[in-house]
Amino acid sequence: MKSLCIDLEACIACGMCITSCKRGALTQDLFLKPILVRKRCVLCGKCVEVCPTAALRFCDYLRKPEVRMQGIGERACA
Ligand code: SF4
Ligand code: SF4
Repeated sequence: MKSLCIDLEACIACGMCITSCKRGALTQDLFLKPILVRKRCVLCGKCVEVCPTAALRFCDYLRKPEVRMQGIGERACA
């Protein structure tokens, strides 16, 4: 299953991805970095296009469960 992965180190918390998502699938954490609400995401790629630092990319949600953990600097939230 495809999902969206967020590189938290590359993210500069500009908020452009959140503004670009018309599905309301991205919210912000305490550091103004995006959190994906996966059930709302239709994988349209708009947020990936607008991100100035390429911090967002598509990834495989099921095959890389470790990516969901914040400890390695990336996450894709359910
Ligand atoms: S891929 Fe599309 S629907 Fe999913 S978070 Fe990005 S802009 Fe929103
Ligand atoms: S557009 Fe990119 S750099 Fe800006 S908040 Fe979203 S993920 Fe971070």
